Amino acid sequence: MKYFAGIDIGSTAIKIVLLDEDLNVVASRTAATGSHFHANTIEALDYLLEKSDIAKDKVAYMMATGYGRKLFKDADERISEISANAAGARHLGGKYGTIKTIINLGGQDAKVIVLDEAGHVMNFAMNDKCAAGTGRFLEVAARNLEVEVSDLGNCHMEAKGAPIAMNSTCTVFAESEIISLLANGNKKEDIIAALHYSIAKRVARLAKRSGMDGLVFFDGGPAMNKGLVAALEDELMRDVVVPETPQITTACGAAVMAKEAYFSNIVIADA
Ligand code: ADP
Repeated sequence: MKYFAGIDIGSTAIKIVLLDEDLNVVASRTAATGSHFHANTIEALDYLLEKSDIAKDKVAYMMATGYGRKLFKDADERISEISANAAGARHLGGKYGTIKTIINLGGQDAKVIVLDEAGHVMNFAMNDKCAAGTGRFLEVAARNLEVEVSDLGNCHMEAKGAPIAMNSTCTVFAESEIISLLANGNKKEDIIAALHYSIAKRVARLAKRSGMDGLVFFDGGPAMNKGLVAALEDELMRDVVVPETPQITTACGAAVMAKEAYFSNIVIADA
């Protein structure tokens, strides 16, 4: 059995997916990107292979993607995260219907990718100039509120007060706004819901500007936050599809493309 690796080196997290020849996900791992992209990726890959009992020489092809892809020297090939995300949405999202729009939130950017009927990229828009509306914004807010990022969704669901408006459009100002809201006696849960709505509003604007259409697939690490999902659905005024493992979609797409590249290279080599 041969395996195919998709390695997504994001601004915040490294995601690795191993697929078998039938494109089943056999193992995956998420690790912090840190500052040593290459060394940290090797460490995460070695750990995953050891834990899954797969010898390195069984990995026939490695496709790197994401912000740090150029720094991972061991990859056989590299592709943009837009193409990998689209391939991942086709692979993991197919069971939900024909995905026409992907909304991806990462650690430091927000992307909207519009697909054609066959799932190929027609258009995309990205905000990577400002941390507001990204996973980093939520990390900073969670730290201020002394809540784990993974608990933000549950806290949102417990919000009971009248919706609070967050006025700050910048992460730095949002930090001071959170502190004043706490000082004025607002509950953490209500502030968290307000933060989610402020992100959802920004992302919804980007999605509408990009020509959002049809079934919407929401992925990236922040899509694990059910409060943010609910806020985004409200702002978009439609349901979104969130895959079971939203943080690894792009890595999964890269692994699918690794298999395609491996077999097309063999055909070329054989010709
Ligand atoms: P990137 O590809 O840019 O590294 P990711 O798609 O991996 O970004 O998303 C990273 C973000 O995911 C973090 O900044 C954080 O906000 C969010 N995140 C990570 N783990 C969780 C979790 N368990 N629940 C909710 N959000 C999470």
